[in-house]
Amino acid sequence: MAKTFVFKFGGASIKDADSIKNLFNILHNRLRNHTIIVVSAMGKTTNALEKILSKKLTDEDYSLNITILKDFHLDICKQLFPSSHPIFSQLENDFLRLQRAINKTVDKQNYDEVYDSIICFGELIASRIVYQFLCTQGLICLWQDAREIIKTNEDFRFALVDWQTTRQNCHNYLMPKLLQFPVVTQGFIAMSNSGKTTTLGREGSDFSAAILASCLQSQSVTIWKDVPGVLNADPKRFAQTIKFDELDYREAAELTYYGASVIHPKTIKPLANHHIPLFVKSFLTPDDPGTKIHEVEQSQKIPCFVVKDDQVLVSFKVTDFTFIDEGHIHQIYAELQKLKLRVNLLQISAISISLVIEKQVFKLEQLIEGLEADFEIRYNEGLQLVTIKNHHPKLIQEVTEKREVLLEQVTRATFQAVMTPLAQ
Ligand code: ASP
Ligand code: MG
Repeated sequence: MAKTFVFKFGGASIKDADSIKNLFNILHNRLRNHTIIVVSAMGKTTNALEKILSKKLTDEDYSLNITILKDFHLDICKQLFPSSHPIFSQLENDFLRLQRAINKTVDKQNYDEVYDSIICFGELIASRIVYQFLCTQGLICLWQDAREIIKTNEDFRFALVDWQTTRQNCHNYLMPKLLQFPVVTQGFIAMSNSGKTTTLGREGSDFSAAILASCLQSQSVTIWKDVPGVLNADPKRFAQTIKFDELDYREAAELTYYGASVIHPKTIKPLANHHIPLFVKSFLTPDDPGTKIHEVEQSQKIPCFVVKDDQVLVSFKVTDFTFIDEGHIHQIYAELQKLKLRVNLLQISAISISLVIEKQVFKLEQLIEGLEADFEIRYNEGLQLVTIKNHHPKLIQEVTEKREVLLEQVTRATFQAVMTPLAQ
């Protein structure tokens, strides 16, 4: 099979006209044959689209939000293209289609499906702009709708990949294009076999890059970020950080599981299975080596910190003087599974089960509705889940200082606590 490479550019790397020019420079200097360029939505577009949907749900006026989002893209295009360029009519078209998707009725039942049909426009628009810009700069490439390639089930917002069909599509439709020109496509978005748009989970563009790379058995994946590589903590939250030069697949996967947002949690597995190295590099200093994630024999025990916001601690207490048993656990987990809610931390005592989940529209109330007949349910919102890998007492003390800790778990390697956020 021909050697292919996958480059992924996230929102921060295409947040304005200068960043897109920078993207071109990165590609111009490094582009080898048979490269797929995966892009996510520009800047904070996905959050802006979520905001529009949430305003619609509460019957607030969101027309200004749409105008701002459109102007944001238009301004970028005005700086990159002459006014006669077809990108402007394409943008107009995309915003009309977006408006149509927003106009659909949304309720508790179809929320996830409508969400995907709206949210996909961030990636569709970004990929068109990047593609057109590269072409105008003489870097001739092709545009590919990722939804024609990556197929999933209909678990909207967290769709599961149909690997067999996706692999076939990669070979039959993507490879012939790649043999001719580099291909620009979208991360995050996919399509069910019946033709409905789905998404792979927030920040899922990394995963899209990994899916394509694993189906094509690519040589490597490079994720271009605004950090110099994988760090032992988020530099936006911690003053001192250490960059890993290399990291074992397993360790990288573990960090992403706890919520390290540098890479999407599902990214590592498909790459590790095919021994495809993953490079995390800075688009600000592209010549620096970044971090290489691959098979590493001897790993260092550097403490790592991961912080997850917007956590909800829910406790379920039995009401009939029995003790918690497998039946209760099963019942609660069945409900969580139905709602596609992932448990980030779990603690079981004699008469109650406490668990930590991400805050998500409608989900908590549905969880309570489904279980309130059998349990006394309480919850706290707006919490932070902090994980320290390779902890020691001083680090724990520093992290928990001046905060109320509601639940804590310690194993030899990992410390986790749910607590109130630091006062701003
Ligand atoms: N644009 C999507 C998000 O913000 C996907 C991604 O960035 O990877 O979640
Ligand atoms: Mg992103």
